[in-house]
Amino acid sequence: MHNTRRTFLMTVAAGSAALSTAARAQAKVDEKDAQAAALGYVADATKADTKKFPKYAAGQACGSCALFQGKAGDAWGACPLFAGKQVSGKGWCSAWAKKA
Ligand code: SF4
Repeated sequence: MHNTRRTFLMTVAAGSAALSTAARAQAKVDEKDAQAAALGYVADATKADTKKFPKYAAGQACGSCALFQGKAGDAWGACPLFAGKQVSGKGWCSAWAKKA
């Protein structure tokens, strides 16, 4: 009995370690999240809803947005509009602002 309990506890500990590693890697913004949908965020800028967001112009992407926290060329990076999550460098949302 003692051994079974010990194994169980070790399994739980290993599971939580794996979970916290995944959390640290940061989740990617889901286009269907309420905030993402409200801002018209898409992981692929070319799929931006130009009917709803006519301000989108080809060439705009998170990677060239003033709010993008990743380095130039990063595939994913943080954005203050989506705290704790990452946006695609090739993504876009209606809050896009040209990097100075
Ligand atoms: Fe991308 Fe900029 Fe919108 Fe953030 S604010 S999701 S970096 S376009």
